Parts: sequence; structure tokens; C-alpha cells
Amino acid sequence: MNFCPLCGHAVDQRIPEDDNRLRHVCSHCQTIHYHNPHLITGTLPVAPDGRLLLCCRNIEPRKNYWTLPGGFMENGETTVAGALRETYEEARVAAINPRLLSVISLPAYDQIHLFYLVDMPDFSFATTPESHTVQLFTVDEIPWERLAFRTVKRTLEHYLEFASATNPPVLNDHITP
Ligand SMILES: [Zn+2]
Repeated sequence: MNFCPLCGHAVDQRIPEDDNRLRHVCSHCQTIHYHNPHLITGTLPVAPDGRLLLCCRNIEPRKNYWTLPGGFMENGETTVAGALRETYEEARVAAINPRLLSVISLPAYDQIHLFYLVDMPDFSFATTPESHTVQLFTVDEIPWERLAFRTVKRTLEHYLEFASATNPPVLNDHITP
């Protein structure tokens, strides 16, 4: 950040009083512009027959790799609402019954990924601009070598570790490079 988004003056990096980290501080209006981690919220959708829904990405990064539906939370929404919204946006699934499944910090990327286990009320799903293929997989069919993100892999492993339980415990983990 070079210029203050509020007043347009130059922004300096310094440690504000009573703080211990370098911050972007406006030289004119003195506003401290904090940069904090982003939340990525998504779901692991389970079909009525127990198969798992994955999306093949139609966009970079990791285009043509398989992922769980998810994305950046918007301001003004809850984590659950964001996860359900992303699930509809990426796979046209009207998911129900969200249960928190994993919370994974990625300190090197300034992100936190949350995934909810959700039920699909029926077999309705579709491709979208973000997912060129949407497909149901049995446990044995999961494309482990073609998963887009480590948080997706970790979340799937956790779900399977608990034998695909209806209400598995929440995984609280972190991933470092
Ligand atoms: Zn300013």
C-alpha cells in the first residue's frame, strides 16, 4: 500500500504507539490500515448415496484440479452463509445441514480455511463458470493426485479418518509451506 485509500496521501510503514508490528499508517490523516488474514469458507457436500461432490476448477490458480466448493467470505455474511453461497455459485448445490468440519490456518499465505460438512438434499448439481466439471466420487474414486489445495486434501483425509461419520469432530490444524 502506497497511498491512503481515505485521503490519498502517502502511507508510511511504522509501529504505532501501543503496538508491536509494522503497520501502514497514513502520513496525513493518521489512519492505521490493518491487513489481516482472509477467511476462505467452503463445504464438503455429501450426496444422498454417500458419495462426495468435487469441482474441477475452470479458473486459475490450479485450473483443471479438483477442489471442494469454497471461496473468500464477503463482508456482512456469516461463515455458514458464505460456505453455502460458494457451494451454490460453484456447483449449483442447495446444501443443507452445515456442520463445521475443519479449521486450517495457513500463516504463510495469511489465510484461514473453514470447511463445513453439508448434505445434498438430492442429486441436483451443475457446472458453473468456476467449475467446468462437477462430479460425485465414492471414497475409492477420490482423485488424490489431482486435488487443487492441501486444505482440501487435509479436510477429505479428516472426514475419511472418522469413517465418513455424520458428525465427525472438528479438525483444527495448520499448514506451513
Ligand atoms: Zn489518509
